[in-house]
Amino acid sequence: RAKEDHYGGTRRFDPILAQNLAQKVQLESDLRQAVEQQAFTLHYQVKVDARTHQPIGVEALIRWQHPERGMVSPGEFIPLAEETGLILPLGDWVMQTACQQARAWEIAGLPLRVSINVSARQLLQPDLQKRVQSALQQSGVRPDLIGFELTETAILKHGKSAERTLNALKDLGIWLELDDFGTGFSSLVSLRNYRIDVLKIDRLFVHNLKRTSNDAAIVRGVIEMGHALNMTVVAEGVETRAQAELLTELGCDGLQGFYFARPVPVEQLCLDHAPRLRRAA
Ligand code: C2E
Ligand code: MG
Ligand code: MG
Ligand code: MG
Repeated sequence: RAKEDHYGGTRRFDPILAQNLAQKVQLESDLRQAVEQQAFTLHYQVKVDARTHQPIGVEALIRWQHPERGMVSPGEFIPLAEETGLILPLGDWVMQTACQQARAWEIAGLPLRVSINVSARQLLQPDLQKRVQSALQQSGVRPDLIGFELTETAILKHGKSAERTLNALKDLGIWLELDDFGTGFSSLVSLRNYRIDVLKIDRLFVHNLKRTSNDAAIVRGVIEMGHALNMTVVAEGVETRAQAELLTELGCDGLQGFYFARPVPVEQLCLDHAPRLRRAA
């Protein structure tokens, strides 16, 4: 595909576009440098059991501390990393770091599942299984303490080979989670052949959730279908007690969101949750 597609594809001079382009080129070169220097950290956000509110796992979320711009959100640089292919070395770093952290918690007697976000581009790597295997072996972590969060779009982009790729990952012993469910165009029916363990309901549905809303009906249906397919259902973006209670009533197994915990650096997570994590272990 021509570069023009990515950068807007217009021929007339447009100062805003030119400025955006200059910013993007700058960000890309900064990102390249940051990948070389591994200038990233992982924050971790707890997922809790809907009934007991005990931690059941954590999600690793990448953070980039940019020298001039401060914290750049993954929403801004992950798409750029995907576009440029930098997501491959970056994704390897995330995988290795998250596996090492999961192993450290395991050794400390807190066997917490660490879920890693994996993008479409990573899923398309022919040697993905080897890369995952090497991250598992180098860290020594139990594979069932690692989850991969994949979106339906990433799986469907993969076409026919998705089933093989996901099978290969499952055969390594890691958990597969379907992230942001409900925002794509697929249905659970089209995903029934994949060995997915966890369904994460997108926060879009959680946001306006009221007992009588259409969203509540959708969420109830999704949970029931997920359960029928032997999946654990987790809701993301839970911000209020009312949402947590309703989701639990609707049958959700796990909850994640600012109401319970924000994504925090590992030291903070240990401070915030150590007693509860130990009780859960
Ligand atoms: P995601 O995987 O769906 O992660 C959830 C996002 O929602 C995170 O944003 C998290 O901080 C935010 N969040 C959690 N609880 C709440 C809540 O109660 N309310 C609201 N409003 N937001 C909440 P974040 O960390 O900015 O990450 C954004 C996206 O960037 C992630 O969405 C994921 O798609 C991507 N991402 C993050 N880390 C990685 C990574 O290591 N690799 C890849 N490939 N993608 C990543
Ligand atoms: Mg996620
Ligand atoms: Mg999500
Ligand atoms: Mg999301």
